[in-house]
Amino acid sequence: MVGAGLSGAVIGRALAEAGHRITVIDSRDHVAGNCHTKRDPDTGVLVHVYGPHIFHTDDTQVWDYVNQFAQFQLYKNHVKSTTQGQVFSLPINLHTINQFYGKTMRPDEARAFIATQADSTITDPQTFEDQALAFVGRDLYDAFFRGYTQKQWGCDPTSLPASILKRLPVRFNYDDNYFFHKYQGMPRDGYTAMVTAILDHPNITVQLNTTYDPANASQWDHVFWTGALDGYFGFDLGRLGYRTLDFEQFSHSGDYQGCAVMNYGDVDVPYTRITEHKHFAPWEDHQGSVLYRETARDCGPDDIPYYPIRLVAEKALLADYISAARATQDVTFVGRLGTYRYLDMDVTIREALDCARDWQHARMTGAPAPQFSKAPL
Ligand code: UDP
Repeated sequence: MVGAGLSGAVIGRALAEAGHRITVIDSRDHVAGNCHTKRDPDTGVLVHVYGPHIFHTDDTQVWDYVNQFAQFQLYKNHVKSTTQGQVFSLPINLHTINQFYGKTMRPDEARAFIATQADSTITDPQTFEDQALAFVGRDLYDAFFRGYTQKQWGCDPTSLPASILKRLPVRFNYDDNYFFHKYQGMPRDGYTAMVTAILDHPNITVQLNTTYDPANASQWDHVFWTGALDGYFGFDLGRLGYRTLDFEQFSHSGDYQGCAVMNYGDVDVPYTRITEHKHFAPWEDHQGSVLYRETARDCGPDDIPYYPIRLVAEKALLADYISAARATQDVTFVGRLGTYRYLDMDVTIREALDCARDWQHARMTGAPAPQFSKAPL
């Protein structure tokens, strides 16, 4: 198992429970991949080292699964946005709309009003911009989506797929819950403790600070690769595009911003958001505060890949890497990086559980092992 993040831990655990011996190797000095959490030694605040991770799902099986390995504390994500000189509530809800337009509309009035703002000529939005214009119209799009998205993705929203915006709801009531999933929460002791518990099985050996050497492939019965798909092939065909994130950490003696996540919608503010980590654990009490100022940029060879960009050019290259992967024996490419997709944690776990099941089924029936946890295209 190459990679000790969520995909690696969940598949590793499932196969270990089925009697296989699993070696999990990771080049980092910790498990949990990008959802790694660590206590700040000065303040005691649990820091989301690679940026904010809030667990949310509608999948009861996945929710039950994570609750086996961690004590979850209910947590609702309330995000604010500073834009055009004011602080607004996200996702766009009745409070946002009324504040933005200086009105006191009720739900039906707001719905009718936004319908007059939205571009009804766009019936089948393909791009992020079209989706936003069809959804909320130009003014709200300019304030909340255009600048943020340009900073986040480094390109004009007209060249991004509509699917990115479909992640966010617009609400005609005062519900400011960022997610609409049935289950939401935070593992009380952090994600690293949860992943450590998943990996805690007599059939699993974890080797940190270790890189996988494909030259030793014959040493293993089967390899699950949770690293970047193009990375497996030494980037031979070119590099798939990713956005990486920079976190400028700073501290504060009290409460810096009064919420966990403050987005910045204006394009001339260079960062996308500021995260105040102690607010991810309101059940804890900390005097001091640790914050991240987050900026996104194109991922270079030595950077950590976060968001797959998946523009048209990447899709052609991706197709070539998929062919290369299909021609590779005894390797399964899994997870966000292995399948080059923008995955939430719950989907990652769901796909990992399914992948382990399919792999075992193939083993038992003599069928070929799955080459991907989920087809990347
Ligand atoms: N987005 C935006 N303005 C915001 C928040 C999000 O335009 O204030 C857009 C942006 O393009 C982002 C996408 O919506 O990439 C999805 O947002 P989400 O909060 O789900 O992003 P994540 O937390 O996964 O980075």
